[in-house]
Amino acid sequence: MLSDYRTEIAAIYAELERRPLERTCLRRTECCQFHLTGKTPMLTRGEAEYAALGVRASGRKKLPPRDDGACPMLGRNGRCTIYTHRPFGCRTHFCAAAGGPYPRKHVADLIQRLEALDEQLGGDGPRPIQAAVADALKKI
Ligand code: SF4
Repeated sequence: MLSDYRTEIAAIYAELERRPLERTCLRRTECCQFHLTGKTPMLTRGEAEYAALGVRASGRKKLPPRDDGACPMLGRNGRCTIYTHRPFGCRTHFCAAAGGPYPRKHVADLIQRLEALDEQLGGDGPRPIQAAVADALKKI
């Protein structure tokens, strides 16, 4: 199952990249400052476990504590430390500089695939990124 979910998550993210929608993430990381945006990405289980693989690949076994309201995967250098493993919400977010949120009708099928995978993995729907990835790190 482990390799299956990786394949499906990678396929979903790759499909998103192929969609003919003008979006350009400039890695400004403003969306990673949850205390400023008031919005926290919500992750299905497959996304969380895939993100946890990114954390492991960056050489960490658990998330660093943060008391500044930013994402725990945001590096001290101001860069996302799991960029290639970042979750769906970080790819389709509300960042105006990147082009704004994706219209739901353009990604609804991909969201359905994420939700179906969540169910297969025994998930219980999307959860806030911090708790979802912290728990996933204990499993992988
Ligand atoms: S996972 Fe990366 S892109 Fe997403 S909020 Fe965290 S630091 Fe930002």
